[in-house]
Amino acid sequence: MKVVVVGLGAMGLPTARVLAERGHDVIGVDRHGISAPAGSSAGETRIFRLAHDRPEDIRLARRALELWRELEQLSGEQLIDQVGLILRGEPVPAWVTAMRDEGLVVEELDAAGVERVFPELAFRPDEPAVLVPADGVVFARRGLAAIAAAARAAGAELAMPERMLEITETPAGVRVTTDLRVIEADAAVIAAGPWAEELLPPLGFSLPLVPAIGQVSYWRGGGNWERRPSLVDFQADGKMGVYGLPTPGKGYKIGLDYGDEAAWFSDATEWERREFEEECNREWVATHAPGLVTDGPYMTEGCPWTMTPDAEYTYGRRGAIVVAAGCCGHAMKFTPVLGEILADLAEGRELWPDAKAFALERIPAEMPFTRYDTPMGSRISL
Ligand SMILES: Cc1cc2nc3c(=O)[nH]c(=O)nc-3n(C[C@H](O)[C@H](O)[C@H](O)COP(=O)(O)OP(=O)(O)OC[C@H]3O[C@@H](n4cnc5c(N)ncnc54)[C@H](O)[C@@H]3O)c2cc1C
Repeated sequence: MKVVVVGLGAMGLPTARVLAERGHDVIGVDRHGISAPAGSSAGETRIFRLAHDRPEDIRLARRALELWRELEQLSGEQLIDQVGLILRGEPVPAWVTAMRDEGLVVEELDAAGVERVFPELAFRPDEPAVLVPADGVVFARRGLAAIAAAARAAGAELAMPERMLEITETPAGVRVTTDLRVIEADAAVIAAGPWAEELLPPLGFSLPLVPAIGQVSYWRGGGNWERRPSLVDFQADGKMGVYGLPTPGKGYKIGLDYGDEAAWFSDATEWERREFEEECNREWVATHAPGLVTDGPYMTEGCPWTMTPDAEYTYGRRGAIVVAAGCCGHAMKFTPVLGEILADLAEGRELWPDAKAFALERIPAEMPFTRYDTPMGSRISL
């Protein structure tokens, strides 16, 4: 089978790899390039976590961890660092139950526990906190480079910059027109990140997708900040959640559970620094992680994500076209397992039961988004 994969981010790139390894003829195209700053997969790191409140997510994350480990063996690079993850806030007990039901080891933290594992963090006595030791960080840029190398080794052509302009279905499959050529293929996979919002409706997929720009900042702690656990702080009283993770060489990365819809611009190639997030990040650090400081220049990075109303990514197939969309701030950790799922869809296979939980059919036409009462904020799911 010949397959064109449009978009080589965390969703499209592993799909190209798996399809090539299964013996298919694969052409992947990307208008910007792998890990380019315009897209959702830019940057060095993301949180890797088995921790979720849904069993399907936990099981898919376990499969992803196995596959990341296999890729480490293949590439000789460290791709996952299990520095641990702290979850804190009111949803924690429900998450602990779900995690224990799936056999995950978790350690509930009191003040002494927080001081031991993350001394820069202020303890909040009224809110539960838990450590998930198996979680931590995925080295996203390195991981995507390793996947690209494996895809090329299996015979995939990865072409960039090359922009898909149009896809039409033909009796034999699809005709994909790019700015450089016309490709006839049996099937196409469209994994265009935030650009899916404009690319999918002409193909008959009317998904509720909202691209929005998130901004992170980098901080440092005391002696060993690179070994601090990642963090999901749900926060109380309707305040925006905050996440954090160590990013070697740069600092401890802090970001908000928030995206600015008004800042999305489909022809942008990078993202301007914005004061609102900067102020929120500084305020959170001063109040909740006073041991973190900026030493050296204060650094920020912007990155687009794409919300669905239930804050989960989704995928599906109609005719010869497979789509994957809605990164929702947490798809990177699943990257290798998403490659398997999307390759199955491209081959016309039945999805396995855990993978069905995120299929297109689950999103009703009229599903409202949750928005914070902030300048055009849309919630993301950590
Ligand atoms: C600030 C932030 C923090 C995050 N934190 C985490 C985290 O801690 N843990 C985690 O697991 N995930 C996290 N995520 C989510 C994760 O990074 C995304 O889910 C993932 O990168 C999405 O990948 P994607 O392939 O859907 O999109 P993208 O990476 O955007 O890839 C889409 C690609 O399609 C290409 N494209 C678009 N249109 C065309 C066209 N017409 N022709 C050719 N190519 C095209 C683009 O150039 C782009 O490269 C975070 C995301 C953000 C933004």
